Amino acid sequence: MTDVNIRFPLDLDSPRFSIRKPEVRSDRQGDMTDAERVDRAMQSFMKDFSATTATYMESCIHCGHCADACHFYKVTGDPKYTPIWKLEPFKQAYKREAGPFAFAYRAFNLKPKVTLAELEEWQHLLYDSCTMCGRCTMICPMGIDIATLISQARHGMFNAGLVPHELWAVAERAEREGSPLGATAKVLKDRIEWLADDYEVEIPLDKPQAEVVCTLSSIEIMKYPESIVALAKILNHLGTDWTLRSDGYEATNFGLLSGNAAWQKDMTMKLINAAVAAGARTLVLPECGHAYGALRWQGANIYGKPLPFTVLHISEFLAEQVNSGKLKLKKLDKSVTFHDPCQVSRRGGATQAPRDVLQAMGADLRESRDSGALGWCCGGGGGVVTIHRADELRHAAFDINIRQINATGAEIPVTSCSNCRQTFDDGQAHYQWDKSMNSLLELVADHIAD
Ligand code: SF4
Ligand code: SF4
Repeated sequence: MTDVNIRFPLDLDSPRFSIRKPEVRSDRQGDMTDAERVDRAMQSFMKDFSATTATYMESCIHCGHCADACHFYKVTGDPKYTPIWKLEPFKQAYKREAGPFAFAYRAFNLKPKVTLAELEEWQHLLYDSCTMCGRCTMICPMGIDIATLISQARHGMFNAGLVPHELWAVAERAEREGSPLGATAKVLKDRIEWLADDYEVEIPLDKPQAEVVCTLSSIEIMKYPESIVALAKILNHLGTDWTLRSDGYEATNFGLLSGNAAWQKDMTMKLINAAVAAGARTLVLPECGHAYGALRWQGANIYGKPLPFTVLHISEFLAEQVNSGKLKLKKLDKSVTFHDPCQVSRRGGATQAPRDVLQAMGADLRESRDSGALGWCCGGGGGVVTIHRADELRHAAFDINIRQINATGAEIPVTSCSNCRQTFDDGQAHYQWDKSMNSLLELVADHIAD
C-alpha cells in the first residue's frame, strides 16, 4: 500500500525506515584525555567570545529563516542542518560561561556543560555540512554572522583535536610543505618551466621587484595549470610588470578552513612578505574563494597594520583592465551563466567585476534565479570538498546548482574560483551532467583582441 504521508525530501532518520543510516564518523587528532579535549575547546571558545560574538549570541529570535538559506538543509529537510543549530555547543558554552546570565545558567544548570560526545557529534555539523558560504548570514533578519561564528567554533574544534581527518591532513601538509596538494616551491618552478616551454609564454618567477605580485591556488597548479598560462598571457599582453614568487605563492588557506589560527597566519604572512619584498603595489589573488577572504578581509589584522599594497581578486583586476579600456576582448559567441563564488561575491562584494568582464566579451549573460549575493554555494567550500564522508551530502547540495543553471538555458557556466570549478567537475561526473564549468580567467585569455 502506498504511504501517502511520505514527503520529500525523505527523512531517513524517521522510524518508518527500518534501515538506518550509519552514524557519522568523527575523527580525533593527538593523545589527549577526553577531559583535556573539552577543556581545550572551551578555552578556545572563550578566547573567541568578543562583544560582537555576544551580540550575535543574544540576538537570535529563533525565526528559522536561516534554515531555508542553507543548501544542506534545503536538500535534506533535516533540522540538524539549521545553521544556528550548528553552533549549539558554542552557544551553550557562551551562555554558561560568558553571557550576562552565566551565573544563573550555571547555578540552575539551565545550560549543561558541553561534553565530548556533543563536540564529536557537532564535528559533522561544523565541518562536513558547512561551507562557511554566508548565505544564512545574508538572510538572518538579526544580522547574525553565522558563517564567522562557525569559523570561530572551528578554532575550538581544532584545539581539541576534533577535525575531520582529511581536512586536518591537508592543512598540516600546507603548513609543513607550503601547499595542501604538494605544490612545493620546487614543483611550482618545474611546472612553470614546463608550461613556459609547452605554451611558449614567459612566466616570470622570483623577480626581485615588481609592480604586481600574483598568487596561485594549489588546485590551479596541480589540476588546472592552463590557468597559469592564461594569467601570463593576459599580463604579458598588458605589459604589466609582474611576477610570481616562490617565497609566497600559495593563496589557499587551509589553516583558516581547519580552524588553526596560527597556520592561517603563517600562510597569509608568506603572501604579505613576498609582496612587501617585491615592493608590489598590487597583490592579485587567484581564482580561489577562501583565499580572498583570508587576505582581503583578514590580511591587515594579521599583519597588524594597513597593508602597503592593494589586494585584488583576479576578476577585479580583469574588470579594472576592461573598464579602463586597457584590455580589449573579442566576442564570446556563447550564452553564459555565472556561478558566483560565495567568498568573492556574497562575502567579498566583488559581484559586478566578473559581469563587467563578461560584458566586455559581449557575452549573452543569463543570470540564474538566485545569482549574485544570493547565489547558491557549490557545496565544496569551507574544506568540505576534502572530506570524503561528506561526499553524499555535498552531491545532494550540488543538485541545486544543476537545476538553477539548467533553468537559465545558457550554453556554458563560468566561475572565478578553482575550488568551485573542482566541485563542479566532481558534480558533473557524479550526475553525468552535460555541462562543464569554465574559468573566467581562461575565457579572457582565449578572447584577447589583437
Ligand atoms: S554558512 Fe552556508 S553552509 Fe554554513 S550554515 Fe550558513 S548557509 Fe549553511
Ligand atoms: S535567521 Fe537569524 S534570528 Fe532567525 S533563527 Fe537563524 S540565526 Fe536566529
